[in-house]
Amino acid sequence: MTTDPGGGSLADFVSAALASDPALRDLLEGELTRQRTTIQLIASENFTSTAVMAASASVLTNKYSEGYPGRRYYGGNAVADQVEELARERAKSLFGAAHANVQPHAGAPANLAAYMALVEPGDTILAMRLDQGGHLTHGSPVSVTGKLYRFVAYGVTAARPDGSGERIDLDLVRHLAKSERPKLIVAGATAYSRTIDPLAFREIADEVGARFMFDAAHPAGLIAAGEHPSPVGVADIVTFTTHKTLRGPRGGAILCGEELAKAVDSAIFPGLQGGPLEHTIAAKAVAFAEAARPEFIEYARQVKANARALAEALSAEGFRIVAGGTDNHLLLVDLRDFDGELTGKAAQEVLDRAGITCNRNQIPDDPRSPFVTSGLRLGTAAETTAGMGEAEMATVASLIARVLRHREDESRLQEIRAEVRQLCAAFDPYPAGAGALS
Ligand SMILES: *Cc1c(COP(=O)(O)O)cnc(C)c1O
Repeated sequence: MTTDPGGGSLADFVSAALASDPALRDLLEGELTRQRTTIQLIASENFTSTAVMAASASVLTNKYSEGYPGRRYYGGNAVADQVEELARERAKSLFGAAHANVQPHAGAPANLAAYMALVEPGDTILAMRLDQGGHLTHGSPVSVTGKLYRFVAYGVTAARPDGSGERIDLDLVRHLAKSERPKLIVAGATAYSRTIDPLAFREIADEVGARFMFDAAHPAGLIAAGEHPSPVGVADIVTFTTHKTLRGPRGGAILCGEELAKAVDSAIFPGLQGGPLEHTIAAKAVAFAEAARPEFIEYARQVKANARALAEALSAEGFRIVAGGTDNHLLLVDLRDFDGELTGKAAQEVLDRAGITCNRNQIPDDPRSPFVTSGLRLGTAAETTAGMGEAEMATVASLIARVLRHREDESRLQEIRAEVRQLCAAFDPYPAGAGALS
């Protein structure tokens, strides 16, 4: 595997640090090259800063610190305590929350801990349908959440020709809340392109005496920047991931009021996890500070502007955009109008060959299975970090359309692959010398 010529000092760092393990070194250099030479449109991904990566790669990986700052089970935690306290304070200040738990290893355990803090096994929880945008941890039968609790699901309204459909069906949420009497209502999605109004859910939860949890895994960065309504102070518990629009290390976090702090903390430890990943918590602290800077507001605005530009350009190419467009960082593309034969699976695979990385996704009322699907999910968080703007989104849309139109034509695909490489060279997430690790 090769490193790009001029390939950043990040590549040099990996190469030097792993000199004694060439097999792994080559793999990591290969991954760095992949990220720098292909277009990243997976809505749940981003490019972290090298400061986030430096903290993730720090000596804190050596430290055991079961418990919480000031209440650890092992000695030697003076520094770890301050690191975790810094991360907690930064999270609280960024989101305006009374309490933060920064230990969840990822979004999934953050959600499970929130359920453990709010309800008992066997209780009813109302959450969004998986095949209309919900997440596995919102009660899928293959997730432990679906085995422990009784989930009832709401979905989106029917599609309408003017694009005003495919919105969360709040009448259905209210109807199910009244008929099923859930102990907990969950808002939040993994594939939903419109704003989710926390106040509308709060109102319904109050009408039936349910608790309310907001899973902000995707929009956390937009919320931090004031570019999506904040559920903090509205929902009883807010969970989020730190690696999606928030642009931090892979991980999760939980926000709540003082009254739930103890229940949340004990659900994470000792309820669910062992020793926290203090190196990741340090990296979360870096990301929270980065997200508090004025530039991050500009970033979040550009992410949204780019998603709108991408949706408009794809729609001009003949694709139907689910819900008529996007208010956030992602969009769902219905491939059927463009080409009735084209599945999400085939589209994802051929786009991958041309250097465009995205994922297939079911669209509401998809006639195809979750493994095949009729749609693609595209997000702009990563390439906006790399510096792309609306003009590049128009280019990306035309590259996507050309790949899918000429998917049987190998030489056309290679031509497009070369154009993709060129575009990526101009928008390198880790340019040489730009504060990279070394
Ligand atoms: C990504 C996501 C999660 C889970 O995050 P992991 O870090 O992958 O465990 C939970 N909920 C929603 C809505 C998500 O999009």
